[in-house]
Amino acid sequence: MNDAVDRVSAGGIRPALVCVGCGKRFPLDAYRLTCDEPHEPALLRSVFSETRLTLDTRAKGVARFAAWLPISEPLHPSSGPISFESEGLAHRLGLKRLFVCFNGYWPERGAHMMTCSFKELEAVVVAARLGNTGKTLVVSSAGNTGRAFAEVFSRMKRRLSLVVPEVNLGAMWSLQPFDPDIELLAVGSDGDYSDAIAVGERVSRQEGHFSAGGVNNVGRRDGMGVTVLEASTALGVIPDHYFQAVGSGSGGIAAWEASQRLRQDSRFGSANMKLHLAQNSPFTPMADAWQAGCAQLLPRSSARVRRCIAQVGAHALTNRSPAYSVRGGVFDALSHTSGHMYRVSNREAEAARGLFESSEGIDISREASVAVAALIQAVHEGTVQPNDRILLNITAGGQGRLFRDYHVKYHLQPALVVHPGRQRDRRASCEKVAPASAARRANG
Ligand SMILES: *Cc1c(COP(=O)(O)O)cnc(C)c1O
Ligand SMILES: [Zn+2]
Repeated sequence: MNDAVDRVSAGGIRPALVCVGCGKRFPLDAYRLTCDEPHEPALLRSVFSETRLTLDTRAKGVARFAAWLPISEPLHPSSGPISFESEGLAHRLGLKRLFVCFNGYWPERGAHMMTCSFKELEAVVVAARLGNTGKTLVVSSAGNTGRAFAEVFSRMKRRLSLVVPEVNLGAMWSLQPFDPDIELLAVGSDGDYSDAIAVGERVSRQEGHFSAGGVNNVGRRDGMGVTVLEASTALGVIPDHYFQAVGSGSGGIAAWEASQRLRQDSRFGSANMKLHLAQNSPFTPMADAWQAGCAQLLPRSSARVRRCIAQVGAHALTNRSPAYSVRGGVFDALSHTSGHMYRVSNREAEAARGLFESSEGIDISREASVAVAALIQAVHEGTVQPNDRILLNITAGGQGRLFRDYHVKYHLQPALVVHPGRQRDRRASCEKVAPASAARRANG
């Protein structure tokens, strides 16, 4: 799988991009998302001049890992994930070496990611990849991504256009005022995450706008991969197992890529970190395909998909076009690591949340609860052994705690609500994209 990448010897100071499909190499710029050769869809991957990770020990948070991030300017100062060895949950599950990577707010443990999810890692790294292009980045989100990008781009005074389902607008909060140039479009008429993506694509084709590109953006993936770098450098070794809840699959792919880079470093052992990725039933397209032994997602009617998505509690896991079959994507990552996929019901997730919160003492999101529930399943089924080194990614946590500690004053208001048609041929009516002045009014 890594052959194409391995063939290309690293060199030069700046990171480069290499196509997983054909090995073609590109310089790192602000915009490139895909290869330009005519072949099946394949991810680009970052290659860095240093195969050994040099930690910037004077830096804090994400910036400690700058040597392995695809950036063109220094990272804006920002907190990062923390990792620790679990006692409470480990004891309850009979595990001897359970490690938690926590993304969010937990002051006693030094966790200060104030947007409370690992999407903040994507936002910080993407911003430093872009530099100041003067153009407007377009991001579609079910909530967490939007909040993270709005916060980071506000702080940096960079232009951003967000597209979020109207039902998820409550997620657009901040402790800081938003920059008036951050533009928010809401997708009404029960629009979901996929509708927001469709509208976002149209917005990004406008003059002066460009798309953040989802899984195809190496900045987003390598940003999320910081969770594995953080945990492995703290532990001194690559874990045997990695548990995460997935929707697009980007975080899972990112974790895999980070673990493979650490293997090449060789100071962190040679474990081929096994991916354990979880989805929230009844919407489990990747788990269904993987368990059927398929490299492609199984065909599903859009009516059925909508019905399933409506029942899912963990909204961030409802991506209808996950990065499963793309070369270098979830199917390849699971195959390469002999990984597993899990289906977790809302009820199991709720129970797992209760167990985590009572044993570790911090609230976690519904998505993170799905990962905990998958770990519980794996323990019961003997998929992991008591002495295995297990990394549990709590992708979002501490929001309840943050709301108790702070008065959250700011909510980003939509400049416009667009109403996409249900049928394929009725296009979203987003030609009327609001001028920045409308956003400013709505903000004030
Ligand atoms: C986005 C998100 C996920 C899933 O991320 P993938 O991109 O599918 O890996 C999991 N948990 C939380 C809290 C998220 O916001
Ligand atoms: Zn290619």
